[in-house]
Amino acid sequence: METDDPHRGVDPRERRARRADARVDEAGAEEKPPAPTLLDDFLSKDRRRVLHAVWEVFKTRDPKVLEPLAAALPVIDRATDDVDLGGALMSNGENLTHALDRIRLFGKGRCLCAAYTDHVFYEPRKEVAYGHVRIVEVVEGFYYGRPKRICECADCGQRYEIEEGEYHYPWWKWTVPH
Ligand SMILES: [Zn+2]
Repeated sequence: METDDPHRGVDPRERRARRADARVDEAGAEEKPPAPTLLDDFLSKDRRRVLHAVWEVFKTRDPKVLEPLAAALPVIDRATDDVDLGGALMSNGENLTHALDRIRLFGKGRCLCAAYTDHVFYEPRKEVAYGHVRIVEVVEGFYYGRPKRICECADCGQRYEIEEGEYHYPWWKWTVPH
């Protein structure tokens, strides 16, 4: 039977959330402005906020975070074009470019592990903590006494070799094994 229920086919958790929203609207009490989103940060022209958004994008694969950014990518591109982001050892402009590349990869439906080979700031320990990869093997003393790790992407199973080193800052070089 057809009904006009706007919630038809909506997940029950979502229904509860909508009802809660409606209550807040009716009460009109909770008029705190919403917290700025990462999109707001990217468009802010404020160096600190733009960089905050950049680092958040570096560490997430969450579609809820990345979808709105992918939809707004041309706007972000234009808005960030003339912001001086500075950066002493590595230009923050390069970090911004990489964050936008990550969003682009997501928009194309690619697995975000594809971004690892393009940047030296992906620390395997953190990627494991985020649940993005698991360490398959550690080869001790591989490069100047430092280990080489083999990691496997938790989403697509792609394997990477990671060398690490330090030159002004710690770096990790991710490559696809031959
Ligand atoms: Zn992957």
